[in-house]
Amino acid sequence: MNRRAFLAALSAAALARGANAAFASVAPPRKKVVIVGGGLAGLSCAYELRKYNFDVVLLEGQGRAGGRVQTLREGLYQGLSAETGATRIPDTHELTLSYVREFGLTLEPFRSGDFADVVHLRGKNYVGGHNPEPDWPLQLTAEERRLGRKGLAQRYMAGPLQSLVKGDENSLNVPKAILEQDNATLGDYLKKQGLSPDAIELLTVGGDTTVSAGLLFLVELNEQISRQYFHIAGGNDLLPAALANQLGGAVRYGCKAVSIGQDDGGAWVVIENAEGHETVRGDLLVTTLPFSVSRNLFSDARIPEDKQRAIRELKYFAVDKIFLQMRSQFWKKNGQSGFANTDLLSERFWSLGPEHADQRGLLLSYVIGNKAAKLDQMDMQSRIKQTLADAESVFPGADEHFEGARTKSWGQDPWQLGAFPAFAPGQLSSIPLNARREGRIFFAGEHTSRYNGWMQGAIESAHRVVKEIRA
Ligand SMILES: Cc1cc2nc3c(=O)[nH]c(=O)nc-3n(C[C@H](O)[C@H](O)[C@H](O)COP(=O)(O)OP(=O)(O)OC[C@H]3O[C@@H](n4cnc5c(N)ncnc54)[C@H](O)[C@@H]3O)c2cc1C
Repeated sequence: MNRRAFLAALSAAALARGANAAFASVAPPRKKVVIVGGGLAGLSCAYELRKYNFDVVLLEGQGRAGGRVQTLREGLYQGLSAETGATRIPDTHELTLSYVREFGLTLEPFRSGDFADVVHLRGKNYVGGHNPEPDWPLQLTAEERRLGRKGLAQRYMAGPLQSLVKGDENSLNVPKAILEQDNATLGDYLKKQGLSPDAIELLTVGGDTTVSAGLLFLVELNEQISRQYFHIAGGNDLLPAALANQLGGAVRYGCKAVSIGQDDGGAWVVIENAEGHETVRGDLLVTTLPFSVSRNLFSDARIPEDKQRAIRELKYFAVDKIFLQMRSQFWKKNGQSGFANTDLLSERFWSLGPEHADQRGLLLSYVIGNKAAKLDQMDMQSRIKQTLADAESVFPGADEHFEGARTKSWGQDPWQLGAFPAFAPGQLSSIPLNARREGRIFFAGEHTSRYNGWMQGAIESAHRVVKEIRA
């Protein structure tokens, strides 16, 4: 109801019943918004809509809130925990940080492993990043050898970021200079810059070069080469737990959406739960489900073909995380940080745990993309065995210190079918389409945000949808 219609209704009712009684009786009915998916996007959307007096119900398929924010504690030594999904918060991610403050959570520093200290190539460890540059076992040109790994990154990967115009850092759209790189794969982009195949390998050890070149620059921009990273003391899952706690009974767990639709009077979702099937109707509906698990949901939803295609075709990275619990952080005593990029199946290692080397810690093997898809074909014991063998090559002593493992495969998680979007060339440009409202159905979730692959993206998308709904 617009303002004029509202005032007309108000005075008509006032005449009929007396002004004092009228105000209460004609206050516009609370709009009911059905939200599907209880990850950070869904939780944030429900929490913010409630601030504006909307009637919300949030339907989550699993028995827990948080989605891709999940902290494992069981099965690990007391005090150790493992983030299977979101791990670090860059100091530039104001939306995530403001929720951390709002819910009184405590931050602790997180040491990042982006430009890993050890590069393990052809069976040997090399330590890069300071002079003299290692004698890489690769066929590099004299100039590539002189530049080294960091120099190559500075020369060949900084271009589109340097041509950003002021304000791009804060814009919610993917900047033009980055979109211009959305027509080629990362591998082709680097080849076009004149880099040799081995220099491309050195630069991208452990990385998938078949994604859109623009994606890499967007990831860099979104981190804004952050100076510092944080982790929530006690576990990142305390953030979705705090939001869910605020929402109380408005969150319904164990409700799997099997179909979403709309008509002229409202929007609905058919859910499957312990009691069978049920249709939950609202005036409006927000879906925050990753497109990977949304492919068959919208046959009754009047969704135009371009959007259906985007939902069908958005690719997601397979990701495996394998946490090896070690009796002590022996690598520190050997002068190793525990962070490494490798040409092995375990393409990336991170070190997690308390400060002191004598205390127990975790070596995390973090595998993204094609190699994760390969790991997914192995049974769990073989994955752990392979990871331990890889850890032993990079951090001698791993075998002897190993106590047990916890694992997570996002590609095999039926609620996710992937970790985050692996935008292929052309797909990065479709973020606004992913985010576009279709009648009474609104789209949130990290895949609809420039900050995709981050908690910030989930929260930003929720704030956007709340604005759209209020408007
Ligand atoms: C391996 C990995 C590492 C990451 N690292 C970081 C990091 O370091 N820092 C950072 O900020 N972010 C990181 N992220 C990204 C961050 O976790 C996500 O961007 C964010 O949590 C996504 O929230 P969302 O609400 O959009 O989606 P999700 O969290 O996926 O929420 C979707 C919800 O929908 C539910 N669902 C699925 N299907 C159905 C259905 N049919 N019916 C009902 N419910 C359903 C799911 O159970 C889930 O709860 C990482 C993610 C992964 C996977």
